[in-house]
Amino acid sequence: MSKPSDETKHDRKTRLAHAGRDPWRFDGFVNPPVYRGSTVLFPTLDAIESGNQRYVYGRRGTPTVEALEEIVAEMEGGARTVLVPSGLAAVTSTLLALTKAGDHILVSDSVYKPTRLFASGMLSRFGVTVEYYDPLIAGGIASLIRDNTSMIYCESPGSQTFEMQDLPAISEARGGRDIWLVVDNTWASPLYCNPFRLGADVSIQAGTKYVVGHADALLGTVTANERARLPVVKGIQDAGHCAGSEEVFLGLRGIRTLAVRLERHWRSGITVASWLETRPEVARVLHPALPSHPGHAIWKRDFTGASSLFSVVLKPVPREGLRAFVESLKLFGMGFSWGGFESLVVPFDPRSHRSATAWDAEGPCLRFHIGLEEAEDLLRDLERGFSAMARAAT
Ligand SMILES: *Cc1c(COP(=O)(O)O)cnc(C)c1O
Repeated sequence: MSKPSDETKHDRKTRLAHAGRDPWRFDGFVNPPVYRGSTVLFPTLDAIESGNQRYVYGRRGTPTVEALEEIVAEMEGGARTVLVPSGLAAVTSTLLALTKAGDHILVSDSVYKPTRLFASGMLSRFGVTVEYYDPLIAGGIASLIRDNTSMIYCESPGSQTFEMQDLPAISEARGGRDIWLVVDNTWASPLYCNPFRLGADVSIQAGTKYVVGHADALLGTVTANERARLPVVKGIQDAGHCAGSEEVFLGLRGIRTLAVRLERHWRSGITVASWLETRPEVARVLHPALPSHPGHAIWKRDFTGASSLFSVVLKPVPREGLRAFVESLKLFGMGFSWGGFESLVVPFDPRSHRSATAWDAEGPCLRFHIGLEEAEDLLRDLERGFSAMARAAT
């Protein structure tokens, strides 16, 4: 559709505005129309028998779907992207496409909880051995690799606890063996980390988060390099995954403003996280872009920016104090997902879904998503929360 070859010299933010577009194919309209369709007609017997027609069936792609696939592939630096109905579908369809009975796979201990539930539950029923590893393992993962290891599944930073993984060292530890390196790259969005440059074969996005960016749709993307392209595309298509036309439209609508939204998320996230670090109620702030974070050097080396999702470990506080804090906030809603325009907070306790590492926190943990509100207003809201906490805890 677009011509990435002569556009690749432009800045990524410029390409974000132009990738996946071909206005003259659509009578000059800037955006492709939302194609809704199952049936695609073939004009001749030859056409239906040859399999060469560009579009054959709605499930296999439309011009709307292709447009978003092209943008994500170009931004992440992969060979091909496939859209699926949710971030979790991107995870599970990749695991199904690239593993088989008898395989052993290594999964990061701080992986998104539903990923873990699928791997330990469904995947192991199909004869895949799932072993969890310490996300800080780096090159030490070599000692866990077996003859039948077929995949290393990473997520960096880790869900909730934000461990940064040394992807180049993990990639190198494969030692040329045929092992897929899959990365859930959702935190960085397609803009702030290029996992393919770090050795990944597949990059996963919960497009629901920053790509859609407005908390109004679910979407997943699976991007493969040349080596993984065929099994990934075939695996996902054979399983029947395809994203709905309206969701794809919302993804297209959202991704064009990804760069400006993320700059704001990044800046406000740092402002709020740094402020929280100074609070007496806070034991630790887990934000990879803060110099205090143990994985900060990896973030600086491998990422070109930061999103606004991070966690806070509080000092011990009675449950009533925690309740008063979260329930007195006016600008932070309590709810799952993130990446939208609004700020969110959720309590978490990862101890029930860890096996390779222990999670010792000083007190209760909160995950924050900093939205597009003015940071000063957010700080005032949090200040009110801490006052309420103090009143409730005495
Ligand atoms: C939210 C999330 C997912 C799942 O995305 P959904 O669209 O909600 O299914 C996968 N991975 C990570 C890291 C996430 O944060």
